[in-house]
Amino acid sequence: MDKKLRVFATCDIGEAIELLRGRGYEVEVYPQPEPPAKSLIVEKVRAGVDGLITTLRDQIDAEIFEAGKGTLRVVAQYAVGFDNINRADANRYEIPFTNTADVLTEATAEFAFFMMGTLARKMWPAEHLTRELKWGYWHPYLPFLGDEVTGKTVAVIGTGRIGLAFIKKCVGFDMNVLCYDPAYENQAFVQTIQEINDLRHARGLTREKAWIKYVPFEEALAGADFVSVHVPLLRAGESATPTYHLFNEKNLRLMKPTAYLVNTSRGPVIDEAALARALRENWIGGAALDVYEKEPLPVDSPLRDAAIADRCRLMPHFASAARITRLSTDPEKGMAGRCVRGLIDVLEGNYGGDVTKMPYVVNKESFGKAS
Ligand code: NAD
Repeated sequence: MDKKLRVFATCDIGEAIELLRGRGYEVEVYPQPEPPAKSLIVEKVRAGVDGLITTLRDQIDAEIFEAGKGTLRVVAQYAVGFDNINRADANRYEIPFTNTADVLTEATAEFAFFMMGTLARKMWPAEHLTRELKWGYWHPYLPFLGDEVTGKTVAVIGTGRIGLAFIKKCVGFDMNVLCYDPAYENQAFVQTIQEINDLRHARGLTREKAWIKYVPFEEALAGADFVSVHVPLLRAGESATPTYHLFNEKNLRLMKPTAYLVNTSRGPVIDEAALARALRENWIGGAALDVYEKEPLPVDSPLRDAAIADRCRLMPHFASAARITRLSTDPEKGMAGRCVRGLIDVLEGNYGGDVTKMPYVVNKESFGKAS
């Protein structure tokens, strides 16, 4: 085949682009750091690209697939979450799309853990004291105290890849864990963690024996000192247990008034108006967020209210933003490497061209039925 494979990338993903060029691909990269307009993506796809590299900033739906009819063969998403891709539309047009699961699991989980500590130990307001010359004396409890993480109870909502990795980090801090996941309860994992807790206790590493168990959602929220969210964004109609506004007024009120909420999943999982109220009116102790209903966080967001700044940490969708995780060209280590590997698998017909056997293809359900 001497026709060059053509790819349009909606943003630069580093050296991995050169890896494609080295294989003879013709790759055009959108040069600006901001996302391209959808009309530009449509235009590029209509011009006949074989593959499209996308991020969570790009809305990929029937309009794009229609523009690529007969030419577009794969959408390679540079993320594990794919709520920006209309799966039903991809299936209707029979376009496989890939994601970059696994390689960002540990980076995202550790960031969620650090956010939890930063929030509870008030590191942000504490540093402000130092920088703003408001640190006038050492005192047993003034001007404020934080809360320990060690030995506390954490609810993990969604025990998929990142939720389980987050639990592994909690073990080192002697935490009790309340798990909730309506789709799959990984009891083997829970048993392993309990065995580790038991051993740590038996060998004198912990004074109290930590525990872990699956419980119903309400019980998880009511019993936790910390709640960490690790679910995909699923809107009504996409799942029997949708996650859109899972944290609404009703559910936020189930949490302890001292409890902290951490969200590194997707913004719309939390009703931000309800959360801002919960923080203003002290229904909960605090929140640390990495993701928002609208990104970047609008200037008039109620979460920016200075009155709640000491108990509301706001990160810029940054949980997977670590060097190796983002840019390594090794598909076992980096999102960039995994993203182009998924693209190559489809375009070069690896796995005998059987999309259902390609490890990074998400929407396998619409392939392999005919033959
Ligand atoms: P995963 O598919 O392995 O795990 C998600 C889990 O959530 C599954 O076990 C699923 O059963 C469970 N779930 C589904 N509906 C639920 C509900 N209503 N209540 C509780 N649990 C429910 O996915 P993952 O790799 O662990 O990633 C999770 C999400 O994290 C991604 O979909 C993505 O949106 C987000 N994410 C964000 C960042 C970031 O930079 N902030 C980075 C990576 C991933």
